Amino acid sequence: MTVSVAIIGAGPSGFYTADVLLKTGQSYEIDIVDRIPAPYGLIRYGVAPDHQTTKNVSRAFEKTATREEVQYFGNVELGRDITLSELKSLYDVVVLAVGARLDKRLGIPGEDLDGVYGSVEFVNWYNGHPDCWNLAPDLGATDAVVVGNGNVAIDVARVLVKTVEEMAHSDLPDYAVRAIQDSPLTDVHMCGRRGPVEAKFTNVELREMGELEICAPVVDPGILPDEVGGDWSDRDRRLREKNLRTLRGFTEMDPEAKAKRVHFRFFSSPVEILGDGRVEAVKFERTRLEEGRTVGTGEHFEISCGLVVAAVGSRSEAVDGVPFDDKQGIVVNQDGWVEDNVYAVGWVMRGSTGVISTNRNDAVAVVGQIVENIREGGKPGRAGFESLLAERRIRRVSFDDWKSIEAIEIANAPRGAPRRKFVSVDEMLGALSQDG
Ligand SMILES: Cc1cc2nc3c(=O)[nH]c(=O)nc-3n(C[C@H](O)[C@H](O)[C@H](O)COP(=O)(O)OP(=O)(O)OC[C@H]3O[C@@H](n4cnc5c(N)ncnc54)[C@H](O)[C@@H]3O)c2cc1C
Repeated sequence: MTVSVAIIGAGPSGFYTADVLLKTGQSYEIDIVDRIPAPYGLIRYGVAPDHQTTKNVSRAFEKTATREEVQYFGNVELGRDITLSELKSLYDVVVLAVGARLDKRLGIPGEDLDGVYGSVEFVNWYNGHPDCWNLAPDLGATDAVVVGNGNVAIDVARVLVKTVEEMAHSDLPDYAVRAIQDSPLTDVHMCGRRGPVEAKFTNVELREMGELEICAPVVDPGILPDEVGGDWSDRDRRLREKNLRTLRGFTEMDPEAKAKRVHFRFFSSPVEILGDGRVEAVKFERTRLEEGRTVGTGEHFEISCGLVVAAVGSRSEAVDGVPFDDKQGIVVNQDGWVEDNVYAVGWVMRGSTGVISTNRNDAVAVVGQIVENIREGGKPGRAGFESLLAERRIRRVSFDDWKSIEAIEIANAPRGAPRRKFVSVDEMLGALSQDG
């Protein structure tokens, strides 16, 4: 019996699911569908453009995509081109792997002022995502506030302060190179409501902030505790001790020795974004730890700035036809099971946490359930899907098409860079028609 599976979303969780299905030794016909022509989700559009080695995991995904059981359907969107109920009638199993592509909101006044962005849109902008390449953020201020104490906040701060030379081996699009180069930005204030021990940076990313060409990290030594207090696992304690050591090292650096600075401002909870039409400052309440919880102190302060990026996580879009947990921003599921023959993996299943490989654990768990639950195959699968797309005149991008697009991106790369990305869907499809 061959079981037909539609995996919706070609990010890590979708590809890991396909890979784990293929390793079960059973017979599958697997179609991986993505709303944009390019595969790999946040590997291409989230992971920082100057962290190219992290993106190498896509080589393993490429091997999966070229297996004979697998087909790629880029430029086909669930909700726009096809509904979940249609997919359910076409495929024996449907796996939702659509990620979390909406910004969580800060939920404070002033959030809709010009110059305030969520990290999803801002990161998509500097990564050349078709949804955001034309965001054109105004980088015309000397000070920016990045809200968040995790790796995404660090990525945003670092990309804003690195030099053109430091970015030479990245795939930062030309428009972002120019905008950052022309920006008068000198100070980025990274603000989070928790303290230096609770911050979620990984140590490699944190250390990198002390190694930048023209930017110095700034930390108030008075805020760093002598040791890591609280109840942590051994592993977490070691990570936090390392981060404390790194932050202590930062306090010994001279902030005036370099042209730019990233200020690590802990215990700072944003309460209002101030400005007339566009952002002029952010008002914060100072916080402190009370029995492991962060609480407000009633003391307020402001930071003047012309740009705010809120890196406070992301949420999924609701999928028509299945229940949605609006609070958590995920599809309602039990360990990935959504309803008969419908599953969820990755960020749409558990929210925007963890690293790329975390999604492999989800895939293993969901495939375990698919194998256990599936009783019969026999739905039309790929043949039915292809005729429906043809009927609707939808320009599906195959994996061969994608390889042609990618080859042109690589051929067009500036010296030292891995590729020059096509940033709009029209450009990608246009490149295909020129390619023959
Ligand atoms: C800014 C940022 C930086 C990161 N950096 C790192 C890092 O350096 N190292 C690391 O290990 N992890 C990093 N991560 C985490 C990692 O990227 C995620 O764990 C992972 O990408 C989540 O996988 P996913 O498949 O659930 O979602 P995604 O990667 O978001 O993939 C979802 C896919 O679904 C598609 N899709 C969405 N809606 C539809 C629809 N309606 N129809 C069809 N397709 C759809 C999207 O186009 C996308 O391709 C980072 C995350 C972010 C946000």
